[in-house]
Amino acid sequence: MASERSPWPVPADAPAMEDLSKCVHCGLCLMACPTYLVTGLEVESPRGRIYLARAVSEGRLEMNETVQAHWDLCLQCRACEAVCPSGVPYGRIMEHTRAQVAAAPAEGGRGRRLRRLFLRNVIARRGILGPLMAIPRVLADSKIRTAAVKTRVIRVVAPLARLERQLPRRVGPALRPGDALAQPEVVRGNAVLFTGCVMGEVFGDVHRATGRVLARRGIAAVATMGQVCCGALSAHDGDLDFARKLARKNIDALEATGEAPIVVNSAGCGASMKEYGDLLKNDSKYAERARRFAARVKDATEYVAELGAEVPAQFEGRVTYQDPCHLAHAQRIRQQPRHLLHTIAGCEDVKTDASDVCCGAAGMYSLVEPGMSATLRSRKAEQFRLHRPDVVATANPGCQMQYEAAVREAGTATRVLHLLELLDEAEAAAEAARQSP
Ligand code: SF4
Ligand code: SF4
Repeated sequence: MASERSPWPVPADAPAMEDLSKCVHCGLCLMACPTYLVTGLEVESPRGRIYLARAVSEGRLEMNETVQAHWDLCLQCRACEAVCPSGVPYGRIMEHTRAQVAAAPAEGGRGRRLRRLFLRNVIARRGILGPLMAIPRVLADSKIRTAAVKTRVIRVVAPLARLERQLPRRVGPALRPGDALAQPEVVRGNAVLFTGCVMGEVFGDVHRATGRVLARRGIAAVATMGQVCCGALSAHDGDLDFARKLARKNIDALEATGEAPIVVNSAGCGASMKEYGDLLKNDSKYAERARRFAARVKDATEYVAELGAEVPAQFEGRVTYQDPCHLAHAQRIRQQPRHLLHTIAGCEDVKTDASDVCCGAAGMYSLVEPGMSATLRSRKAEQFRLHRPDVVATANPGCQMQYEAAVREAGTATRVLHLLELLDEAEAAAEAARQSP
């Protein structure tokens, strides 16, 4: 809980002094922070932001728009947390700082309120999100899109132009709870596939590919009914009460599936679900259940690598793997995706500079902080122009969309795939080669 001297509200959800005081100001996190690397400013570094959060909590600093702007520019990528020798839980500090901001009677709060309404009433409601996402699905490979880009009409509305650049060339059918996945001939184990919100609507093909990869290893995966959005976007926005509500719904829905692993192919969702225990630690009815649930959560790359089954895979091409922040920094999963890539025969692993530095997608960041997001995207585009990979592989929907824009900026004929899609394609190709006379 924040200091008694703090004039700011939300005592229950304000950043804990215990967390804030762990920072010893050593500065070892600075060179890992994308916003510090771009600006060179202390206030845009993790150390600077923690200092501001502590000063606000202790009542030494007013929580004005300038202070909030420094927090808003943070991508919540958690690269700082991964390198901090003092174990500062930066992700938690920032979520609680944003909860404190949201409850303060600040100027300029309209945008924040709108964002919260959107997250609660659109993103987290499949009945509304589903029909809305039919629009990009239809537009993805349409002549309307081509004409709007060619005539530059799309540029009239800047946020629409940004979304258009991120939209894949093809958006397959959605995959929602209850939908069928490929099943193995001989069942060796069971798993639950977490479908998510935007992930299930825009990247249903990634879910189907994941189902096939698991089926080849004898795992019967089911997209269990009743599951909802993981709540990560709401938590990052500081709407912890709503994130808790969604977490409870997921626990209720998936508890009946016993001890089966909960496989997540969106790094942001997985990171958040692995932290349900922390999110619900003060909820006497759910605390223990949340801990048990979190222990079952596995990123898809982590789970497939653990299965260790040798399924032949063939892909002739140059592939660069770009770490999603919430996989590399929040879940500390770096080796497993690379291991899977190295199991693919014919595949050349193309290493770029700063493959683990944030691409600038960061949930809704590319919409609310377009300048910094574009700068980070351009740095990726530069690397793609230099190395000209055939495929950019990653493991998070927001990153996939940002890399669509980056390869377009690079002007290369590079495909953007989830690593599980690449693996599925490579395994199907090896299977086809075996069967051909
Ligand atoms: S967050 Fe960690 S690494 Fe960064 S200044 Fe504080 S103690 Fe040092
Ligand atoms: S979460 Fe990322 S952007 Fe934010 S302070 Fe840490 S390293 Fe910098």
